[in-house]
Amino acid sequence: MKKMVYSFENGGKDWKDLLGGKGANLAEMTKIGLPVPTGFTISTDACKKYYSRNQWLCEDVKSQIAVHIMKMEKNTGKSFEGKGSPLLVSVRSGAAVSMPGMMDTVLNLGLNDVSVEALAAESGNEKFAWDSYRRFIQMFSDVVKNVPKYKFDMVLENITEEKNCKIEDLKAEDFKKVVVEFKSIYRRETGEEFLEDSFDQLIATVEAVFKSWNNPRAIIYREINGIDDSIGTAVNVQSMVFGNLGDTSGTGVAFTRNPATGEKEMFGEYLLDAQGEDVVAGIRTPKKIEGLEAEMPEVYKEFIAVCDLLENHYKDMQDIEFTIEKGKLYLLQTRNGKRTAAAAIKTAVEMVEEGLIEREEAILRVDASSINQLLHKNFDQAMLKKERALVTGLPASPGAASGRVVFTSEDIKAGKGEILVRRETSPEDIEGMNLAEGILTVHGGMTSHAAVVARGMGKCCISGCSAIDLDEKNSKMTLGDVEIAQGDYISLDGNTGKVYKGEIARKDGVIDSAFEKFMIWVDEYKSMGVRTNADTVKDCETAIRFGAEGIGLCRTEHMFFDEAKIWPVREMIVAKTPLERGNALAKLLPLQKEDFVGIFKAMGERPVTVRLLDPPLHEFLPTEDKDIEKLSESMHISFDELKGRIEGLKEFNPMLGHRGCRLAVTYPEIYEMQARAIIMAAIESKRNGIDVKPEIMIPLVGEVNELIYVKERVNEAIKKVFKAEETTIDYKLGTMIEVPRACVTSDEIANEAEFFSFGTNDLTQITFGYSRDDSPKFIGEYKSKEILAHDPFESIDEKGVGKLMKMSVELARSEKADIKLGICGEHGGDPRSIEFCHSLGLDYISCSPYRIPIAKVAAAQAEIKSKRV
Ligand code: PEP
Ligand code: MG
Repeated sequence: MKKMVYSFENGGKDWKDLLGGKGANLAEMTKIGLPVPTGFTISTDACKKYYSRNQWLCEDVKSQIAVHIMKMEKNTGKSFEGKGSPLLVSVRSGAAVSMPGMMDTVLNLGLNDVSVEALAAESGNEKFAWDSYRRFIQMFSDVVKNVPKYKFDMVLENITEEKNCKIEDLKAEDFKKVVVEFKSIYRRETGEEFLEDSFDQLIATVEAVFKSWNNPRAIIYREINGIDDSIGTAVNVQSMVFGNLGDTSGTGVAFTRNPATGEKEMFGEYLLDAQGEDVVAGIRTPKKIEGLEAEMPEVYKEFIAVCDLLENHYKDMQDIEFTIEKGKLYLLQTRNGKRTAAAAIKTAVEMVEEGLIEREEAILRVDASSINQLLHKNFDQAMLKKERALVTGLPASPGAASGRVVFTSEDIKAGKGEILVRRETSPEDIEGMNLAEGILTVHGGMTSHAAVVARGMGKCCISGCSAIDLDEKNSKMTLGDVEIAQGDYISLDGNTGKVYKGEIARKDGVIDSAFEKFMIWVDEYKSMGVRTNADTVKDCETAIRFGAEGIGLCRTEHMFFDEAKIWPVREMIVAKTPLERGNALAKLLPLQKEDFVGIFKAMGERPVTVRLLDPPLHEFLPTEDKDIEKLSESMHISFDELKGRIEGLKEFNPMLGHRGCRLAVTYPEIYEMQARAIIMAAIESKRNGIDVKPEIMIPLVGEVNELIYVKERVNEAIKKVFKAEETTIDYKLGTMIEVPRACVTSDEIANEAEFFSFGTNDLTQITFGYSRDDSPKFIGEYKSKEILAHDPFESIDEKGVGKLMKMSVELARSEKADIKLGICGEHGGDPRSIEFCHSLGLDYISCSPYRIPIAKVAAAQAEIKSKRV
């Protein structure tokens, strides 16, 4: 018979997978001699067996439970049958990963019409016994039989109203009546009598707790937190201790450090004459833990000593639950305390300084993604809790935004803190996005234009919010059943994708000295380079402030949208003859050069990778007649002719159409102009004392001959600049790897490139055949139906896209061992993907400026973890 049930004397903190977090820690506390009420844990194996047997608890497990109950009877001298001194137990869930409040708990189990009398006699407190009994009936009915709690609450409400008193002021006789009424509710709702046999009560509750592993809130919690559904929960059965036995009893929860700030101070609450649920339910207001010192000095002293011992033992901030029964302290739980990012960093840094942990451990302690909390504004959590989200989209760029709704980029005003709501954004919205406080789009995924640009700007953005019914014509939208007009306030939570009505108070992020120290350690440990995706001087400055080591992707098309450049760009695109195109490019050359001079100046001697023009050309063309008119006048052609040329450039599937290096095969002069501008700017910068290291990157190569053709034209153009300027500079020429064919022919391509940068946005799009912009319409469903574990545009799909990347790395290095390899798709800022890139041996990752600290922490963690295995 396989062992499925373990007493607390059996096990320890490293047994989490088998005993769950709570069970493992109860065993650990028992082992180190702390006052833990006796009990046992029914393992996660039993839970898995329960599910494998179609939700049926097998006889093996039942008989092991019976043996452990007998042991408890022996340890305590009490009887589970309720004769003499009754043994009452608590039944609590506890998975390997903490899921606070997601599953069920039953207290005071073992009470029945006989044991309640025994409890009254033993405690000398009839009121306590009957109060405990009514609590048990209520919890058991709710957890095991799904009888709604409010039906019982109504009985309590009636009686307290009738007596004009609070629940705690009711008398024993009142609770006896309550028990009678509770039992009749139970009978009515379930069609059966209340279970009197304590073993039957226990088995039914254990089954209910196993069942609660799959209640909807637990499933959603696991989905949000990426917890494996198959690990199951354990169940802890523990002898009850009572905090509601008068003023020398009580219950509480405390953290060994402040979980909000990380300050080294006790942080907690307690209530005298109460059970744990009273603290949670908020019926009575708990007191600050410091107050216990005056009320029970000895117990307080003992508790502080226990807290110190536990923090030192676990070498981490502990979240501890305790009960005091008639002046004696008992520990019911300890676990590593959940904390804000600021608190995580402060405690990690201070624990290193206190000699409790090593720097490596400190780095691993901080959840890389949580650093967003420090870099962006966030909602006041207390205020946010009071709000109900109207709809949910994709959390495309973190932070919190509140402001009036505006539906067009032209209507956004500087300094007004407005929220830009668009069906989707296009490069024409850049200015509006820059002025907006936050951005909300109906379409578009995690790598859509809105998402990429907003992340670059460090602006809160929710994309792909398809539940919005947008009526731009009438300047309004409907979110669920709420109509929002232009000028109304809404709030966006970029961390969760939730949209709220009205304004919600926000707090600034905090970067303090602990964060600065922490980041210095991170830099010492990480091995991969961390560059930024940046297209403007402002981006560069932000990125350097956050510690960027270079630019991994400068998307030149983003520079084409300012007022000075967009017109010559348009002329270049609609040009019919090389002469017309040449004229337009001549106008663009000095403007592009100035852009690069600015970027090189901002980046100093750090490497800068400039990607040549990538998007389909029609994206730049005017759509409104007035703009077409203006362009036709400056080009001296008729409106109709220009409109015809614009029509002719439309594509059925632009993402797979005339874009990337394909543009340069057709119109090499575009890349020639860009290469000239980069090199002229680099020469000018060098003459001004900055030794620039430009890296020119060709996008969307899938066939080596594309690269060979484009490279030749680019190199030729650069040679001409060298000749004209009578000088040379070092530059590198490489390619993006963002087409599956490029991955499988990377050996050939490596021979023609000095570096590769994985463009995992396009690589994911083309590998899956999912549109980057349209996938939110179905990815949510794919995740909920467990077809995909996560959005592949957010975290690299290691099985497919990752396999292609691995093949590419191996092929490239087999031809050119020292080829420089990086990534500049949005995955370069995602901690899980960064760990994968580290495992591939990439030299650097590149991400938007505001994700640099996150990427650095993730890179350091990947390095530390890889050394540990
Ligand atoms: C990519 O495809 O991953 C990439 C970085 O290029 P873009 O997002 O500009 O297509
Ligand atoms: Mg791309």
